[in-house]
Amino acid sequence: MTESAKVDMDKIVSLCKRRGFLFQSSEIYGGLNGFWDYGPLGVELKRNVKEAWWRDMVTSHDELAVAAGAPTTYEMTGLDCTIIMHPQVWKCSGHYDLFHDFMVDCRESKKRYRHDQVRGRWVEFRGQKAFVATQLGGDEGLAEAEARALKFFGLRAKDAEKLAWDGPLVSLTKVSDFAQVLGPDAKTLGTLTAPREFNLMFKTYVGALSGEEGAAFLRPETAQGIFVNFKNVLDSTRVKVPFGIAQMGKSFRNEITPRNFTFRSREFEQMEIEFFCHPQASPDWYKYWRDRRYRWYLELGLSGDRLQLRDHEQDELSHYSCGTADIEYAFPFLPPGEFGELEGIAHRGDFDLRSHMEGKLVRQGNELVVELGEDGKPRHPGSGRDLSYFDDITRERFTPHVIEPSAGADRATLAFLCEAYQEDQVPDEKGNPRERVFLKFHPRLAPVKAAVFPLVKKDGMPEMAEKIYRELKPHFNVFYDEKGAVGRRYARQDEVGTPYCITVDGQSLQDGTVTIRDRDSLKQWRLRAEECVAEISGRLAGKIQ
Ligand code: ATP
Repeated sequence: MTESAKVDMDKIVSLCKRRGFLFQSSEIYGGLNGFWDYGPLGVELKRNVKEAWWRDMVTSHDELAVAAGAPTTYEMTGLDCTIIMHPQVWKCSGHYDLFHDFMVDCRESKKRYRHDQVRGRWVEFRGQKAFVATQLGGDEGLAEAEARALKFFGLRAKDAEKLAWDGPLVSLTKVSDFAQVLGPDAKTLGTLTAPREFNLMFKTYVGALSGEEGAAFLRPETAQGIFVNFKNVLDSTRVKVPFGIAQMGKSFRNEITPRNFTFRSREFEQMEIEFFCHPQASPDWYKYWRDRRYRWYLELGLSGDRLQLRDHEQDELSHYSCGTADIEYAFPFLPPGEFGELEGIAHRGDFDLRSHMEGKLVRQGNELVVELGEDGKPRHPGSGRDLSYFDDITRERFTPHVIEPSAGADRATLAFLCEAYQEDQVPDEKGNPRERVFLKFHPRLAPVKAAVFPLVKKDGMPEMAEKIYRELKPHFNVFYDEKGAVGRRYARQDEVGTPYCITVDGQSLQDGTVTIRDRDSLKQWRLRAEECVAEISGRLAGKIQ
């Protein structure tokens, strides 16, 4: 991580806490690692992100028009399923057997690490070799590896050139023998255990039964609720293939090393679509969703420089997928050139519907077949329900193929926050330059759309400002503030990304006009008080520039 990138992230994290975007969960008890609470402004921002997604993908989707680039018309509908589902769902989906990361434990520090997240560098001094591990990447990782190597060999900083380094920072997964590994928090070599599997699903018990009969899991993704309701949606809505079902809600993963603010949490929210289509049309639909979802982030303000669409290599694809792409963002907490996943768009074939019909599938050559147990019966039997689709125009019966755009609401919110953070210089009331921090949110995402101020707290200005506030309030989230110098009130609104500030001043009382100030351009102009609703609505909708 570069010094400037690090400073930015520290500033963003501190602004988030100071202004009530994000708090550590259970903070008064010392916090709980991997869990975050959204504060008064954070909850508005995240709701706006989710509402923009639901509106753009579901309710505003025009079923009668061929959307830009879509192969044909299509329908969209929604669902809201439970977090705890029948345990067989996770056996058939593959999560019970396969949803794990590898972890390593340190016998000395008693810390646990995700195997693929530990990096390190080989170094030699006076014939002794060591792989010095760190959890950091980039320049920070290199600096930490050097400091730890000096300490390990009992050297001072001025002796750094005596260390013989061999190669760059590499993942611990490239090291086969841990005897010479200096764990990230260890003082001696060889304290890390061999990697072990760790299932990421949280286990719980349903009802009074505490034994395995009552065991269930908190969902690690929202997608499975959609697959198991596929037939219910078909029968109750008469939708026709191609169509999509959207769902957003909480998911839980017992991540081994939660980190990078909300990026990797143990409780988080997903926004997922399962799009069902004819197998032959599925490659075209895959391309459509990949591009459509990428555009969505750009339309809401992420910059093309920091956003990338990355197609997975063949060896990265899940065993059932014939195409997957990730939408990734260059978060400021990552080393330069590294990107973090915001959303994955996967072509999942008929894997999910068939697994829930027939039983958990495995690949055999080019085929997906039901995995059998030692008794020759399906190891994890499916529901036995018919989840195929009958096209009454072509008279064809088939199991639809699925395209899955799967996004994280918290990661999207964090990316919009990081992108919005800006600093510039503005003249203060005496004309001297003052540093300004502002969040340049897209108007749809801004937690507060406008603030109304009386210039001073007398002469009838508060009464007029309150009236404007009440006129605006039914239309959007508006904030009223009469405390302190007006310059400070502007600065507070800039810092939370409020696009417009309306001020009632002496002239307002005489001619009924007020000033309106634009957060980004800092331009101010006058308009009649009763025009405020139309002006702000028009600007938020992009109809007035
Ligand atoms: P990663 O590789 O970063 O762990 P993933 O590939 O396992 O992510 P998916 O299973 O594809 O993630 O989940 C879809 C989306 O859900 C991700 O793109 C991300 O936005 C979100 N997500 C997944 N895990 C987390 C998490 N631990 N914290 C916050 N969001 C998450």
